[in-house]
Amino acid sequence: MSTAQVTSPATSTVDRTPKPSFAKGLFLGQTLSDLVMPYPLVAGEERARVDAAVASARDYLSTFDVWKAEEQGWVGDDVIRDLGERKLTGMFVDEQYGGLGLSQSGYCRVMEEFGYVDGTLAVVMGVHQSIGTKPLYLFGTDDQKARWLPDLAAGRKLAAFVLTEPNVGSDAYNLETWAERQADGSWLLNGEKRWIGNGDKDVLTVFARSDVGHVALIVEKGMDGLSTGPRFETLGLRANHLQRVHFKNVRVPAENLLGEPGDGFRIAMNTLNNGRMSMGTAITGGMKRFLELSVEHASTRKQFDRHLIDFEMVEEKLAWMAAQIYGLESTSYLTTGMVDAGVADFSMESAMTKVEASDRGWFALNRAFQIHGGEAYMNRHPLAKALRDFRIFPIFEGSNDVMRAYVALNGLKALSEDLPDVKSIKLSDPGRAFGELAPYVQGRINRTLRPERLRGAHPAFAGSVGRLAGQVSHLRAAAESALRQHGKKIQEKQLVQKRLAEVASGIYSQVAVISRASAVFARDGEPNSAASAAAEKTVAMNYLKKTEREVGRELRGLEVNDDKYVALIGRSVRDKGGYPFQL
Ligand SMILES: Cc1cc2nc3c(=O)[nH]c(=O)nc-3n(C[C@H](O)[C@H](O)[C@H](O)COP(=O)(O)OP(=O)(O)OC[C@H]3O[C@@H](n4cnc5c(N)ncnc54)[C@H](O)[C@@H]3O)c2cc1C
Repeated sequence: MSTAQVTSPATSTVDRTPKPSFAKGLFLGQTLSDLVMPYPLVAGEERARVDAAVASARDYLSTFDVWKAEEQGWVGDDVIRDLGERKLTGMFVDEQYGGLGLSQSGYCRVMEEFGYVDGTLAVVMGVHQSIGTKPLYLFGTDDQKARWLPDLAAGRKLAAFVLTEPNVGSDAYNLETWAERQADGSWLLNGEKRWIGNGDKDVLTVFARSDVGHVALIVEKGMDGLSTGPRFETLGLRANHLQRVHFKNVRVPAENLLGEPGDGFRIAMNTLNNGRMSMGTAITGGMKRFLELSVEHASTRKQFDRHLIDFEMVEEKLAWMAAQIYGLESTSYLTTGMVDAGVADFSMESAMTKVEASDRGWFALNRAFQIHGGEAYMNRHPLAKALRDFRIFPIFEGSNDVMRAYVALNGLKALSEDLPDVKSIKLSDPGRAFGELAPYVQGRINRTLRPERLRGAHPAFAGSVGRLAGQVSHLRAAAESALRQHGKKIQEKQLVQKRLAEVASGIYSQVAVISRASAVFARDGEPNSAASAAAEKTVAMNYLKKTEREVGRELRGLEVNDDKYVALIGRSVRDKGGYPFQL
């Protein structure tokens, strides 16, 4: 597996001045080059630290027995202990609390190693760190950090993120678990949670509602009234403990409250925004493995007196996988680099990365499966296990369609606030329609759409940069038209939202690829694409072409589509309770 050439500047040198969101800028027709150029390539001291952590993870993971973990239904306390000794259970935790103190890019780079070896171990590590320890790391006071982080960083204790309930999945705002504030400042917690990774472990960040809004409370194993189980049996991730968690009058001390009363929902969402990035890189690692397994199989298996790899349709699948990995890797580490550079508003970028990773990872796995023929269908094959493990990624930590809607509505909201004539109309305001303003807008759209071109790209990408500017213009125009046409009802127009989100995501990933390749060419010189089919320029160009076509399709779909038929068929399917036609 190749070492990704990425990391970020050391935290101490980060400029913390608030920076705008690149993705929101796209909806406004802006290309905020300073946020994405130059690419956050590895440098100096941080590179050495990341490389050391990667080497340590690889060294340990070479001994990890995925099948033993699967059979015993848990990755193993010994594994957690060993990873803890290497501080790989506290990768982003500050050194003063016993962690490695890695940047977001560094942490995510190591998570790629976990994803390469085993989806389940990657999830267990992600639950403990990306979403379990993260709330404390981001929102804990010094006292709270000193109390819990050292054990968590060392793997002596494991953390859980406790949000989902039987009646509450994607709609996480409407929690039913209730926290009642007591006279002494403590909280009395009642409710039930389900599908909680590490739910039976040690330090649980529990999200609940209360009279003063949502709260995030640290609940510790052993507290009176806390019980777990029975454990869920799952399709994949069988070595991940997935638990029911019950709270019956659990008294949580005042000092276990994270943030302020009322901050709970914000803490949950910020944690997930942060956590989604490591899913992007863990899946990148998995995809690299799928590709390697496929190349190995296709190079050794013969049919029709030829190796499979010598058939064009097999080769095309391998090339597709390589290009998608390149795109995803570029996007994932651009997003983590932004976080390390102090960009505060990265929720759209992390959502786009998550969707891209989980969808592309699944499609790559499907191709790898196809190349392996029946062999991958055998239960003990690594791809069979990956198929079970990876299917959850488009669903958890923000289901992909919910993320698409989130991206589009955030972009549209930013745009609506930027339009002087409709500034006072908030998307959530009832009763006012943007549609009334349509005639004025048509002229305005034509006048304003001249976005700045992406600055700092290598000359090899001049054509792509030009076309990218066109895509950004088109996105802005399409977003504005959608706002004007549908008004407040845009919130219900999910097919429009989906297309806008896909366009923004496609533009973002092209920017990431141009940025990454430009930085690599500046560092190493431009590769001669004629000399090697695998040269970086070739794969970058190929990714850009493919994605440009996809963006074009989505943009056209905004104008010419079969949405009316979709709605009609959907209605009759709904009425009939299934397939409505008789032969
Ligand atoms: C293996 C596993 C591990 C998990 N680990 C944890 C954990 O550690 N902690 C935790 O708190 N939770 C955890 N979860 C829960 C997980 O986060 C939820 O499954 C996820 O949030 C989706 O909720 P849901 O499954 O109830 O689906 P629902 O919310 O019921 O949604 C089902 C589907 O409906 C569609 N949908 C829903 N809303 C919309 C919308 N607004 N627009 C369009 N489509 C929509 C989407 O296609 C979605 O996939 C885990 C789940 C699993 C299976």
